[in-house]
Amino acid sequence: MPIQLFNTLTNSVEPLVPADGKRLRLYACGPTVYDYGHIGNFRTFLQVDLLRRFLQQQGMAVEHVMNVTDVDDKIIRNATAANVPIQEYTRKYEKAFFEDLDSLGVEHPEHIARATEHIPEMVNLVETLEQKGFAYKAEDGSWYFRIAKFPEYGKLSKKDFDGIEDGARVDVDEYEKDGARDFALWKAPRPGEHRWETPLGPGRPGWHIECSAMAMKYLGDSFDLHAGGEDLMFPHHENEIAQSEAATGKELAHHWMHVRFLLVEGRKMSKSEGNFYTLRDLLLKGHKASAIRFLLVSVPYRHQLNFTFEGLTESTNAIERLRTFHQRMLKGGFAAGRNEEIARLTQKAAEDYTSALAYDLNTAEARAAIFELVRAANASADAGRLQADNATEILAVLAKFDGVFAVLEDRDAAITRTALEWAEREGRMQEVAPELLTALSLSEEQVDALIAERNLARKQRNFARADAIRKELADKGILIEDSKDGVRWKRK
Ligand code: AMP
Ligand code: ZN
Repeated sequence: MPIQLFNTLTNSVEPLVPADGKRLRLYACGPTVYDYGHIGNFRTFLQVDLLRRFLQQQGMAVEHVMNVTDVDDKIIRNATAANVPIQEYTRKYEKAFFEDLDSLGVEHPEHIARATEHIPEMVNLVETLEQKGFAYKAEDGSWYFRIAKFPEYGKLSKKDFDGIEDGARVDVDEYEKDGARDFALWKAPRPGEHRWETPLGPGRPGWHIECSAMAMKYLGDSFDLHAGGEDLMFPHHENEIAQSEAATGKELAHHWMHVRFLLVEGRKMSKSEGNFYTLRDLLLKGHKASAIRFLLVSVPYRHQLNFTFEGLTESTNAIERLRTFHQRMLKGGFAAGRNEEIARLTQKAAEDYTSALAYDLNTAEARAAIFELVRAANASADAGRLQADNATEILAVLAKFDGVFAVLEDRDAAITRTALEWAEREGRMQEVAPELLTALSLSEEQVDALIAERNLARKQRNFARADAIRKELADKGILIEDSKDGVRWKRK
């Protein structure tokens, strides 16, 4: 089935096809590692993860590049305030970012490119732009892109820059001015600032040149898809297009995907509003990583997701339902054979799931198709109509769904435990929800008592109770191991 995706550049839903017929070359703007990632950032990374997983499931190879912005205005400001070298400052947050991606089940891109490790490529690009008359050096030693020479400026964000003032400049990385101004490609250092000595003079790269240089290095002058949050459309992506296309004369990316910003409890997320959450904040409040993933992906990427705690609870319950159903299908015990009506429903769920994702990644419809199957199959199983072959087919559909949504495997307790260890190291235990602390504080005696109860339940052949105890212990981070000398346990 051909995969269609909205293209910001053409303002229409178009087939997503690799130009080389083999692999889809994708560049997605990565994090600026100056702080812990928040749920807005992760919504964007998760939607890209969802897309790449689905493409692969449909048999398309993906070559995905993500940059790590480890030098920019904010990083320099924060590292200076903390009085540490920028490298030391950013590594901590970069490491945390990748841990968070793992917690959320995000697959790693094929290439991860740090800005500070690609300075020569950026310098080369600025030199090319200078040779072609698109870049100039200002009196203070900074280099700028001459927008007046690039008439297509604004073609992505559909902003009209007629009558732009030639030579008006802006040197901050992020700006939202409607009036276009020449933006910085290379910034001369302020006193005491980290700098690179280069043929352009001392200084550091502007944010936009990073992505142009790294995208083209790994994917070539032209590639298939460029993605990021909607805030990046202007000026960041517009500037990437200007820099790259001015230098190469070729289209930078054929398709542009922008993920809509999320709201939290109906408002723009902001620290001053008190509705700003990093992934770690939510884990310490006792929310499960799987539920956060599920909530962030369940609303299609072009729709506004309103993140609420009610929604998070709903998401937790939905996953529980899915996992219980999965267990039920795995456990079996159904009569041999195949019920044709259920088989048809199963087939339809699989088709609806695929066609929903194939048309502009409609995660809400894909999810609804699977939950409709869960409802119908549970009812049939209750009525004794579901048969063994149906269970096998349903398991195959669930596996397909989970190849993209990735919420069935229960890694939640282990992830929460890691977050708590981090909170302890960072002195943030006061933020931890009381119920998590209780879970953590199972004493040795309590563990021994539960194990004794489990042994008794097993002797009485009450395996449901025995399993429930094992699960309770696992949720609290206790692993038990049955051996011929009895039961051993350890903390995860
Ligand atoms: P940053 O680390 O700020 O450069 O952002 C990393 C990614 O997260 C970019 O693709 C941003 O567009 C995206 N992003 C930032 N805030 C939000 C938000 N509230 N909702 C969705 N995506 C966001
Ligand atoms: Zn970028």
